[in-house]
Amino acid sequence: MNTLLRKLMRIITVPSVAVLLLTCSVNPVTGDRELAIISEREEISIGSQQYLPSQQSQGGQLIVDPELTAYVNEVGQRVAAFSPRKLPYEFVVLNNSVPNAWALPGGKIAINRGLLYELNTEAELAAVLGHEVVHSAARHGAQSVERGMLLQGAMVITAVALSDNEYAGAIVGGAQLGAQLISTRYGRDAERESDLYGTRYMAQAGYDPQGAVGLQEAFVRLSEGNAPGWLEGLFSSHPASQERVQNNQQLVNQLRAEGFTGGETGADRYQQRTASLRAAKPAYDAFDEAQQLIADDNIEEAERKLDQAIALLPNEARFYGLKADIALMQRRYGAAIDLYNNALLRDDAYFDYYLGRGMAYSRQGDSARAREDLQASVNLLPTAMATNELGTMALASNDRSGAKQYFQMAAAAPGDMGAQAQAAFLRLDVPDNPTAYIQSAVYLDSRGRLIVQVQNNAPVPLANVTFELQGILGGQLERRPFSVNNVPASRLSEYDSGLTLPVGTDMTTVRGQAIVRSATIN
Ligand SMILES: [Zn+2]
Repeated sequence: MNTLLRKLMRIITVPSVAVLLLTCSVNPVTGDRELAIISEREEISIGSQQYLPSQQSQGGQLIVDPELTAYVNEVGQRVAAFSPRKLPYEFVVLNNSVPNAWALPGGKIAINRGLLYELNTEAELAAVLGHEVVHSAARHGAQSVERGMLLQGAMVITAVALSDNEYAGAIVGGAQLGAQLISTRYGRDAERESDLYGTRYMAQAGYDPQGAVGLQEAFVRLSEGNAPGWLEGLFSSHPASQERVQNNQQLVNQLRAEGFTGGETGADRYQQRTASLRAAKPAYDAFDEAQQLIADDNIEEAERKLDQAIALLPNEARFYGLKADIALMQRRYGAAIDLYNNALLRDDAYFDYYLGRGMAYSRQGDSARAREDLQASVNLLPTAMATNELGTMALASNDRSGAKQYFQMAAAAPGDMGAQAQAAFLRLDVPDNPTAYIQSAVYLDSRGRLIVQVQNNAPVPLANVTFELQGILGGQLERRPFSVNNVPASRLSEYDSGLTLPVGTDMTTVRGQAIVRSATIN
């Protein structure tokens, strides 16, 4: 765990009293005085550390269309130039059909291609990006960390459904922070603040602020139509409502009164610069249908849809990647590797292709290639599946400490995979550090018998627990071995040592302890 993350975990767990020790600062967007635990340098550091894994967990960048990302970044920078907070703003387009956009602390912003389909003008795009700029600039994400609103230890499952294991896409390690930040709900005040200042910045940037109202109207229409992915997308955290449309209309009227008239909508430019994305929509629709068909277990039809998608947009890596996932699921490892190679030829920066190919190599017994691929996938996005497999491979090559590190990461995953990884970790760590799991004490009962108390703090029963009983009896140090074959999990147990002190012993001269020497797990 890096030091920043450690500090954040501390922040999450410190009692609120600790906050009083911190200094007051002025919110750069609202001018309000507030407490800031996380410094600007740390905000920027969180953003830059979490930006790539968060992109990965949401489908990765839309690298098939780099000009589209360049365009979105242009519009974003034009609006962000009017934010009073100078941050290293960055804007990317993600390869994801869900209509969504998010911002991390420190100015790192992303918009899904699924949302770009729903917009009609550049002013609407500027309204979305301006809104996200404010989330970042006004420290909404940083505040939710400071207020301890993120769920500690909560597992975030990525959209990637690799193989038939539902936890394959569980994010582990430090990347969980970003995954939580991008799915966090900021609350109504923060949303109103983002609408308010975001619309102002876009008007200052020369856009017609009416775009912000058009955007909200489109959201209301879409939420009424219950478009697919709606609830999981932008509008789970940004509820669309007539009230919000009216608030934004009032804001636009006020901006007009302040002289912001004659701004551009940029409708033609938007249509022109997103033309290739719109042309590609049938291919992505076929891909989305294929994913649904896989979930419904209709693999044959899913493959047909993917072939259609490939015919329509042959350069999109994801289509090959999903075909490869199917082959892996069907244990056709050679075919899976060929298909992952096809995906990697088109996009060598998406974790799932390395993860899948690594699993296929591992199943083929090629551990050198498997290790290299799985590690590459972890570098992009650490998942329970990759770390668990790397742990198993490290153990097979007698790398005990490496195996422990990987299993410990994977142990955070929910369900069977997490439980298995935890068991694998404990099997290694209990013999290495028995005293970390076992506390022990001795006492004499009323009949003079020496009783050993054993507290097992491990979540599993321990076997072959050996102790050295030490006692000072009449000034003499006595040592005796003592062992217990099975100590129940997570509780205090008592054992008769079989030793009894002679009747009449002066109890004030007796001192004893039980020192843990070794333990294992069956
Ligand atoms: Zn928002």
